[in-house]
Amino acid sequence: MKKYRVGILGATGTVGQRFVQLLENHPQFDITALAASDRSVGKPFAEACAWKLAGAMPEYIKEIVVQPIEPPLDCDLVFSSLPSNVARETEGAFARAGFPVISNSSAYRMEEDVPLLIPEINAEHLGLIEVQRQRHGFGKGFIVTNPNCAIMSFAPPLAALNRKFSVESVFVTTMQAISGAGYPGVSSFDIIDNVLPYIAGEEPKVETEAQKILGEFSNGVIEKADFTVSAQCFRVNVLDGHTASVRVKLKQTSTLEGVMKAMSNFPSLNLYSSPKEFIRMCDEPSRPQPRLDRDNGDGMTITVGRLFPDNIFDYRFVALSHNTVRGAAGSAILNAELLVDKDFI
Ligand code: NAP
Repeated sequence: MKKYRVGILGATGTVGQRFVQLLENHPQFDITALAASDRSVGKPFAEACAWKLAGAMPEYIKEIVVQPIEPPLDCDLVFSSLPSNVARETEGAFARAGFPVISNSSAYRMEEDVPLLIPEINAEHLGLIEVQRQRHGFGKGFIVTNPNCAIMSFAPPLAALNRKFSVESVFVTTMQAISGAGYPGVSSFDIIDNVLPYIAGEEPKVETEAQKILGEFSNGVIEKADFTVSAQCFRVNVLDGHTASVRVKLKQTSTLEGVMKAMSNFPSLNLYSSPKEFIRMCDEPSRPQPRLDRDNGDGMTITVGRLFPDNIFDYRFVALSHNTVRGAAGSAILNAELLVDKDFI
């Protein structure tokens, strides 16, 4: 299997560390470059990074010296986990310099020529890469993004419903983990014994990204799916794993069994990081729970439970995903695997 050299922008952060962890022993990607802020530049990764994941920092990464977030880096593609205000300029600069940029940040997600990719759902949106290259003169470079981590928990079951029954409207309440705010994130004084009813900038993302993800790609543009989303986003005292409480109205009628089948039969892919089950349905009345279900499918499976007819909408359910794996680094790596598979890299 051919190996590609990868760089990580924002390597020392919460998502950057997940990249380092998930890419250890990856059959297609070797990390050859790390980049972060001035605080870290010039230091070996082991010194620059306050490692916060379970288990030791992998040996292979410790001596790599952190570089500035400027092209060129010694690699074939870059993963970006930069804050969005920094990502806008930097990711554009890497794409212009000919690098495939596979980003977690929100900076380019809603640009009309940038794929907002979930490989199992909308691989055909990769057709936008050619449009993007021509429009911006990127040469071999391009930008592909993955969705907001909260969206990742419920876009897959929504996609399953939209394919079969057409979604009309969605009411969602998200309960988002502390690691979603990066490190050091929310202060312990604010989050212990508490629920925070505000995450800056989150509700507009949750209300708009799903329509693009579930949109149709034709003639070089994405026609967004035609449904409305109303969202409230909360930060809760959970370390990893975003939960979404979802109510959905459908355009076509369906039985509960039909809805359940649509979700559980939604196929996974055959890429290295693909989970066996893309969506796992659980029957137990008290599941999904972040602590018990976030690691399903090595953090790449979406777990859905509490599926019932709803008194106001048609159906309600609870969906959960691991925010730094399926909601961030794991999704970006899966995106890169798809890009290799489809010969974009
Ligand atoms: P984080 O823990 O705060 O890490 C930020 C990273 O970016 C660090 O490596 C930091 O380097 C670097 N950085 C910050 N400011 C910089 C600057 N001015 N120039 C160069 N590098 C800079 O944040 P995170 O949680 O990993 O999130 C990173 C991105 O992923 C954000 O866009 C976020 O919205 C997105 N995202 C996060 C999650 C999640 O669950 N956490 C999920 C999906 C998407 P230093 O260590 O040197 O400061």
